[in-house]
Amino acid sequence: MTPRLQNFIDGKLVDSTTSRFGDVYEPALGTVARQVPMSTSADVETAVAAARRAFDSWSATPALRRARVLFRLKALLDEHLDELAALLTSEHGKVLDDARGSVTRGMEVVEFACGIPQLLKGEYSEQVGRGVDCWSFRQPLGVCAGVGPFNFPAMIPLWMAPVAIACGNTFVMKPSERVPSMALRLAELWHEAGLPAGVFNVVNGDKEVVDAFIEHPDVAAISLVGSTPTAESVYQRATHAGKRVQALGGAKNHLVIMPDADLEHAVDSLMGAAYGSAGERCMAISVAVAVGPETADRLLAALMPKIKALRVGAGTEDGVEMGPLITRAHRDRVAKYVERGLAEGAKLLVDGRGLSVAGHENGFFIGGCLFDQVTPEMSIYQEEIFGPVLCVVRSPDLDSAIELVNAHRYGNGGAIFTASGEAADQFCKRIQVGMVGVNVPIPVPMAFHSFGGWKGSLFGDHFMHGPEGVRFFTRMKTVTSRWPHGASSGASFIMPTMK
Ligand code: NAD
Repeated sequence: MTPRLQNFIDGKLVDSTTSRFGDVYEPALGTVARQVPMSTSADVETAVAAARRAFDSWSATPALRRARVLFRLKALLDEHLDELAALLTSEHGKVLDDARGSVTRGMEVVEFACGIPQLLKGEYSEQVGRGVDCWSFRQPLGVCAGVGPFNFPAMIPLWMAPVAIACGNTFVMKPSERVPSMALRLAELWHEAGLPAGVFNVVNGDKEVVDAFIEHPDVAAISLVGSTPTAESVYQRATHAGKRVQALGGAKNHLVIMPDADLEHAVDSLMGAAYGSAGERCMAISVAVAVGPETADRLLAALMPKIKALRVGAGTEDGVEMGPLITRAHRDRVAKYVERGLAEGAKLLVDGRGLSVAGHENGFFIGGCLFDQVTPEMSIYQEEIFGPVLCVVRSPDLDSAIELVNAHRYGNGGAIFTASGEAADQFCKRIQVGMVGVNVPIPVPMAFHSFGGWKGSLFGDHFMHGPEGVRFFTRMKTVTSRWPHGASSGASFIMPTMK
């Protein structure tokens, strides 16, 4: 019988009350590895109640002691890095080195959160009036919920929970139902690190769990990463229910190649950024904008042989550069986009459809695809494909390239490759995206900066992790105090002034 996963609530693994289960695949083999419970609102109730009980004591624990748990978690993540990467590759499909890298990027957020005593330091103004001082500090929100996408099973829960928990909140995580095992393993490591029961919980499932978070009066905030329709809908419903929400959505990231760019560097960067993790990254480059009359031809001549030579296979095998997609349905959806691109008039220069990998014939593979002559009205340009499909758009000059990027509904990341400081400066200042790269294809901010997009790529006012993460998971309180008190000079009915 296929093994069934559980939830992690109040410090232990427990069965869900559901009778509904979903299949979890090994994408490289195309076989069902385990089943995930589609938990119910009763399971959410149990988890939120445990988190609510744990909150009073955890939020009153000195920040220095909370940080010590994070230091231990960091050491455990280091110790278990290879095991976590292997789990990630088997359930998601991405190649092992990439899986290891993504866990490491999550660990860097844990390192950042270890500095929480410093990060929570407040402001103090002495003598704002005679004998009156004023000070501000930040307090945790309460029970916070996290909702993850399938493409970063370790990194995205680690963008959220370490900062939330370091700030003194308690947390309930719902990972993607396609990659549920990692969050459960992280929960075990949190507890091995000494986190008290109830502070970090995992409830597996789908929309039903998220809806229960939205409806639960004790959930103070929701941090979500997913596709734009999900992010927008959860943002609207949860803010309407009075919760604080950050909801990161989909993307269509452009890389602009100027005629003076180092072409070899640009081509190598594009290969990794478009085809790494099979294009299933929210910061993947899916559009290359070639500026000037000859740039596109030079670019395509260099790109095509490399795409055709991409080594596609199981992520566990040496030398493989690109693994499978997450599900058969998603692979077929990506293939449909290729069909649509052809119907819309784009020129398909490399066709990765129909790829079969020896020994993994049922795996969810598709090879790298490359379209030239893509124009802005085409659906392959407008929509997020989330697969290894790169669209090349030709642009006459930098101004038109910037206008093109700015007219797109998404605004996650964007990059320019150029030798000109002036072009780079113009691009950085005028481009309407949240994260910009200059000769860097995937400008993901480090843990001590904050991650987030603009427009349809983020709903809410706060980016993830870094200083913005601390702001999201806390609220400010400002105290005005007079010591000694007493010595009243009578009631005053006017605003106090410094006269
Ligand atoms: P998804 O929107 O299908 O699911 C995301 C999460 O939301 C899952 O946990 C899912 O169970 C839940 N969910 C799905 N539909 C819901 C609904 N109607 N109401 C409430 N919850 C719902 O996304 P996915 O396919 O798992 O992930 C891929 C998407 O995530 C891509 O669009 C990608 O660009 C995006 N993403 C964005 C970022 C970012 O930082 N902006 C990072 C990673 C992934």
